[in-house]
This record gives sequence, C-alpha cells and structure tokens, in this order.
Amino acid sequence: MPTSAPTLMRLKQSLPLLWLNPARSTAVAAQEVGHALATTGSESPAERQYISLADIEAARSRFERFAPLLAKLFPELAASGGVIESALSSAPAVASLLGMAPGQGRVLIKQDHALPVAGSIKARGGLHEVLEFAERVAIANGLLPSQPSAADYVALLSERAREVFARHSVAVGSTGNLGLSIGVIASALGFKASVHMSADAKAWKKDRLRQRGVEVVEHAGDYAQAVAQGRAQAATDPLAHFVDDERSLSLFLGYAAAVFGLRRQLAEQGIVVDAQHPLFVYLPCGVGGAPAGIAFGIRQILGPHAHCFFAEPVQSPCVLVQMMDGSDGPQGPHPTVYDYGLHNRTEADGLAVPQASRLASAAMREVLGGIYTVEDGQLMRFVYQLEQAEGLRVEPSATAGMAGPSMLLGTPEGQRYLQESGLQAHLAQSTHVVWTTGGLFVPPAQYQQFWEAGRDLLAQQA
Ligand SMILES: *Cc1c(COP(=O)(O)O)cnc(C)c1O
Repeated sequence: MPTSAPTLMRLKQSLPLLWLNPARSTAVAAQEVGHALATTGSESPAERQYISLADIEAARSRFERFAPLLAKLFPELAASGGVIESALSSAPAVASLLGMAPGQGRVLIKQDHALPVAGSIKARGGLHEVLEFAERVAIANGLLPSQPSAADYVALLSERAREVFARHSVAVGSTGNLGLSIGVIASALGFKASVHMSADAKAWKKDRLRQRGVEVVEHAGDYAQAVAQGRAQAATDPLAHFVDDERSLSLFLGYAAAVFGLRRQLAEQGIVVDAQHPLFVYLPCGVGGAPAGIAFGIRQILGPHAHCFFAEPVQSPCVLVQMMDGSDGPQGPHPTVYDYGLHNRTEADGLAVPQASRLASAAMREVLGGIYTVEDGQLMRFVYQLEQAEGLRVEPSATAGMAGPSMLLGTPEGQRYLQESGLQAHLAQSTHVVWTTGGLFVPPAQYQQFWEAGRDLLAQQA
C-alpha cells in the first residue's frame, strides 16, 4: 500500500505524523533477515537467514555467563551481581500530563536512560557485542574452554588475557552513545578501542571516552559517513572487530534480550498481556537497531498483543522512509532523509541518523505497528516535564517515546490502528510503556540547558 499523500506531505514539511505499517501482522514467527545482512563489505557473511527466540535466549545466556566478570570490572554492578537492568516504574503523573483519560490505560516508564556502565540503552547491545567478541577471542586463544561456564570467566581478568586482548582492537562509528558503551566495555576488558564520531556528537561524550583511554576519531560528516570510515579502517586490520550499527546481529540480539527482564517486571507488577489487556510500547529510534531488537524480542517473548511503535525526530525519520519504501534487500532502495528534503539536524543526537539499518527494517516488516515523528521543541518540553512529574533526568532523544500515547489515542491514524486491531473496547485495561533511552551521564550543565529550554517553551505556550 503506498503511503498516503497527506502523510508524505507532513513528512516533507517536517511536521509530526503517525504512519501505520501496512505489512503488520500478528504472526509470532522467526523473521527472515538474511537478505538484509547480505551486504557487500559486511564482515559477517549472511549464512544466517532467520532469527528466532533461540537467538535471543543465547544472548541472555551470554550476559549470564559474563555477569560475575562484569561485577568485578564495574563497581556499579557489584550490587546486582553483574546484571545490567533498569527499573520499570509506574508513571501516573505522565498519564495526566499527556491528558490521558482514566479509561485509556496506565503508563509505565522503562528506565533505560539510567542503565549502568553506559548510561543509555546502548549498554544492552553494545556490551553484548563486545562480550561476544571477547568470548570468541578467548576461546581461540585457549583462555576459555570451548563450552565455558560462568565460573571460567574471571580468567579473562588475568595478565595473559590482558596481553591477548591488547593485541586486538574494537572500533565503532557513533553519534555518541554507542561509542560510549563500546569504548567503556572494550577498554575495561583491555582491548584497544577507537570510536569514530560524527559531527553531531556532543563534546562531553568525546571527553568521557578520552579519559578512559579510548581513541576518538572525529569526522566532519554525518553518522552514516562516520560508520563508513570506521568500517573501512577496521577492515585493514585482521585483529580488529568493527561494531557495525547498520547491520550487526549481535547488537540487535543484545537489545532483544532486554525483553526477558521486561517480562519478569510486568509479571511482578501483576500486568498481563493478552487480547483483553493490550500492551503498547513506544521506542525512540535512530538507525533502528535498538528499537527493532527490542520490538523483535517483544513479539517473540510477549506475543502479538504487544504493539510496538518507533519514535523519530521530524528531521531524521530514516527508518520511516526505509519502511515506507517497502524494500530492505541489499539491492533494494536505501533512501536517506535528505532525499525527502530533510536536513537531519536535531538536538536528539542519539537519533540523528540519515539512513536506516536494513536489518532493523527487515526484522520489523511484519512486527512493527507504526512510526511517529516528534519535533525538537516537544522533546525539550518532555525533558522538563519528565523531571517535574517523575524526577527523571533524561536526554532529549530519550523522551521521544513520551509522544506515543497521544499519537495513538489522539490522532485519526491512531484511532484507525485501534479500530483495525479491535482494541477500542480494551483500552481501559491497556498498558503504555514509554521506553526512556539515555541520560544518566549527561553533565549537569548540559542537562540544565535542555531543562531550561523545555521550561521556557512551555511558558510560551501557556
Ligand atoms: C542509540 C539511541 C537510540 C536508538 O537506537 P538505534 O539503534 O540507533 O535506533 C535511542 N535513544 C538513545 C538515547 C540512543 O542513544
């Protein structure tokens, strides 16, 4: 189904919109993604055609095996025994500031903005990929048995392990947060680490990495260019691993594993997800890997009555333009937001991506409910409102999920979604999860600027 003329018009005029995915279905099937991974120049050959629940379980097991080691490497993980998790909190004040009526469901916040080690959702995918690489290097060099158990992993702190890791390097292209995550875990394990940063990346993120001994390579271009240059540089070194945000299955599955924790937290709060109790999840989206990994995990682990929506800045809706086109194979179109006359400049630096991950769009083809866009001013107002309502300090990117309930409940497109999915009668028993994605390490002075900008914008509106 072609995208409607009014939606296309709003997209080009950088006005907020909600696009419904015409290919969405309720199937809980393995997803065919081989065609999206089979990109020339990829270091991971596309022998993998499908991803399924078993892959997410493998990622969870890897986190479990590494937990004792992580607890030793990062003091902030000692209390949790090396488990990286965020709270799922009830947020009635957010429901009321969004103008939701009591019959429209409850609001919860999944607080990945406060994830330890990386301070953002990237703690999930980024750590997982570096751990997987470390495990591979360790087994290949006899530091771990080929079927290691959790107790074996402390051996990776030994002098010998350090020497082996120091010969290897990990590189990544990033607008900031992915670089922080990869740089911190890679350097903690003893790898050489380099982060290729786009022009949008904030200075404090570069400083923080340099303080940890990570090499920061600055690029004048956008995010896609930083990734391309990092990828090219790593390809010249056989002992280098490039974390490829545009097509990495390991990142994707690290994000997906978050849903086991979400399932447990929902159960602890007595929240059921079924036809009479729908769940809506709103996920800030950059290149698409993090939200797609989580949405894929949600479909596999929570089933078809959980409905996922992505949130993109009005100037950077790269996954939207990719999914609208309906093709994600290596030969298919790979549009950028520039093709639509947009400029990709936004205060939401974590989401400032001009071209989508094809892995993300392929995995989301039948899974995603839709995508909406948000203006920068709205993100700033949410920064202020979240602090006032819930005491949560998040960065602008991380608030994009906040617009979700209004988009679903308060627009004609959202109403159409509810109608077509037969959800109108069940809204009172529904749960809306707003996923906040970054902010823990934003320096106070920088945060203050966002907060004041949001406060002033709200005052002007009043
Ligand atoms: C990276 C990031 C996202 C989105 O992840 P992608 O994989 O780029 O789609 C969302 N919020 C924040 C704060 C991020 O850093």
